[in-house]
Amino acid sequence: MRSWPSPEIPTLPVDGPAVSIHDTATGGRVTTRPDGTARLYVCGITPYDATHMGHAATYVAFDLLNRAWRNAGHDVTYVQNVTDVDDPLLERATKVGVDWVELAERETELYRQDMAALRVLPPAHYIGAVESIPLVLDLIGRLDAAGAIYRVETDLYYSVNADPAFGAVSGADRDEMLRIFPERGGDPDRPGKRDPLDCVVWRGEREGEPSWPSPFGPGRPGWHIECTAMAMEFLGAAFDVQGGGSDLVFPHHEMSAGHAQVAAPGERFAQAYAHAGMVAYDGEKMSKSKGNLVFVSALRNSEVDPMAIRLVLLRHHYRSDWEWTDALLWDAVDTVATWRKALSLGAGAPAAPVLTEVLAALADDLDAPRAVAAVEGWVAATLGTDGLADTSDPDAAVTMLALLDAALGLSL
Ligand code: ZN
Repeated sequence: MRSWPSPEIPTLPVDGPAVSIHDTATGGRVTTRPDGTARLYVCGITPYDATHMGHAATYVAFDLLNRAWRNAGHDVTYVQNVTDVDDPLLERATKVGVDWVELAERETELYRQDMAALRVLPPAHYIGAVESIPLVLDLIGRLDAAGAIYRVETDLYYSVNADPAFGAVSGADRDEMLRIFPERGGDPDRPGKRDPLDCVVWRGEREGEPSWPSPFGPGRPGWHIECTAMAMEFLGAAFDVQGGGSDLVFPHHEMSAGHAQVAAPGERFAQAYAHAGMVAYDGEKMSKSKGNLVFVSALRNSEVDPMAIRLVLLRHHYRSDWEWTDALLWDAVDTVATWRKALSLGAGAPAAPVLTEVLAALADDLDAPRAVAAVEGWVAATLGTDGLADTSDPDAAVTMLALLDAALGLSL
């Protein structure tokens, strides 16, 4: 599938430090040590609705990781999927009377435009579930050979007991898993399952639904295995970071890791599992079912500067849960204007310490709020907000513009 265009990224005069990130699986910090190229997989959208601020927060978070690695001197291979066939997409298409392919293409295109506007670096491999079907079938074959697949009517299930490490990604206990599973697409009560937590890897053909031929009968891929198959194919074993929103920890990332670890025993799926917090609006988590969504495209259509949207996101640590408000956006619009004013002066307060601090903050579990605070300090000193304006660095603006772009994705 086509990705979106990559913006030019300035090269910084110094390399950033090694990047450490919070790992959900261990609950601790992992210093990533990419062997040459850093490898990142981030779960993509199911394209049945436009990109909301919760999505944007997640993709901007992992964009900071991508940029931190690049600034530390690594090449990055970034893979992202599009779940372009799944129950929610088909249900929405039926409800609004649109062909499901058309709906998926339209919303995927909108997402690409949103990501490009927010200056999120594109994945090297942007892959749809439909085009990954051969990979999924190959992986199901390997899981079947390992004795991890069984049939319930025309559907194929993965047996969670096949993975001795099941539960290691989320750290959730069984009661918690049983509580969350049905809320996130699981079907614990289906008769014929060996374990209520087993998940579908191949959904047999249903009347009125699209299906593809396979050695297991016609059907379509399950969601979890789609990501496993793509990550294994394009990144290989034990890639550096698996990322997504915190609502993907269980079952999605647990199952994906399990599939990979059963298909290739002895190899970890990813070296770290990183998760972005949830964004609320009007007091509740932004979600399609609640209908309390703030869309990136709607703000863009209202002539809101995408850099102000990005700044709102950067002002929150990626792991925190927070609430989007219009006041945050208008404050960011004002801030961007003030920053532009300081940058337009050319000379300013010394930029080198800010460069060091911003790169250090981002390498420290993507601490964007700390990086933004360093920039705000430079702007205040340059404009003389608290006293005399500091214009001692004649090339400050050049350095700051490159830093803001390369590290924070803000093109001012
Ligand atoms: Zn995924």
